[in-house]
Amino acid sequence: METITLDGAQGEGGGQILRSALTLSMISGRAFRLERIRAGRARPGLLRQHLTAVQAAATISGAHVEGASPASQSLFFAPGALRGGDYHFAIGSAGSCTLVLQTVLPALWYADRPATVTVSGGTHNPAAPPADFLIRAWLPLLRRMGVQTKIELLRHGFYPAGGGQVRAEVAPGKPLGLTLLERGAWQGTRATAIVAGVPHDVARRELTQLARRIPQLQGECRVLPHQEGPGNALLVDLEHAAVHEVFTGFGARGVSAEHVADRVAKAVRGYLDSPGGVGEHLADQLVLPLALAGSGSFSTGKPSSHLLTNLAVIGAFLPVAMHVSESGGCWRVDIGGAAPGGLAAAADKGAGPRRDE
Ligand code: AMP
Repeated sequence: METITLDGAQGEGGGQILRSALTLSMISGRAFRLERIRAGRARPGLLRQHLTAVQAAATISGAHVEGASPASQSLFFAPGALRGGDYHFAIGSAGSCTLVLQTVLPALWYADRPATVTVSGGTHNPAAPPADFLIRAWLPLLRRMGVQTKIELLRHGFYPAGGGQVRAEVAPGKPLGLTLLERGAWQGTRATAIVAGVPHDVARRELTQLARRIPQLQGECRVLPHQEGPGNALLVDLEHAAVHEVFTGFGARGVSAEHVADRVAKAVRGYLDSPGGVGEHLADQLVLPLALAGSGSFSTGKPSSHLLTNLAVIGAFLPVAMHVSESGGCWRVDIGGAAPGGLAAAADKGAGPRRDE
């Protein structure tokens, strides 16, 4: 079967190209070669989080891998059979556990038996989905798509100390389609300011500032054991009938609590003011499961480069049509039907989810 060649510099030029390629390769059974890995990032190549994702994917699919070394900018990955079982992966830094989980969970839906996956590293990292987002925003939509997966946050891990842990349980079963064109009626908004080994006052100031920006917001401080820090995250959960969104900001040295709150409030307002069903991050993280299902539609704000790049990577592996359109400031992503050139043509090349699992 022909090896798929991907350019890691395309579009967003980040780690998602690698992670989506790993997931799709394991599921489709197709080998890929990725060049110029993370060329769009300040430190290109494989960092510990990406290496752990490669090693995790290789372990669960018995893959043959070349180029999996620190800072490598080129990787070859040829998967074998997907196997359930009990897996433990340690990133060894504050690299994101949730991104490693997102790489392997969809593949385990196609495995021969149930699996548990424990990943240690960062659970609350800037530029990655915090565990709360995975558990309360992403996973509920996947469960609506019929997949049987649970995710638990066992211990918080913040950048740069890490030391967090997440655990997932997965039962085999392919996802079904989902239509999410409206977010539905508002059901509640709440804020949580988490501090670990950081003065409680930081959390209190974040919530006070947030309440100035988003009136009537209910907020609570969560103080974690000192040894889970140092770390601070500000989360806003926004619940609508059809979708639960989680917006996050992170405290950092030299950034005021008020500034963290302002940034989160801006993201919440941006979502509330847009007519889209799902926010920017859910949008780019939903398309892969929907493409595996072979059908689905959602509305969102202006497509991010993560979303567009992910669609391009999916298109290299799966013979599914994906269409992005705009009407009156609302964007819509439709997935389903055969890709141009036809299902038969793509199947000839060996594309599409494995048929035997
Ligand atoms: P990359 O930059 O290519 O490694 O991909 C990062 C991934 O993390 C993308 O799927 C982003 O949507 C996701 N992401 C970044 N920040 C957040 C956040 N605050 N909440 C949820 N997902 C996020």
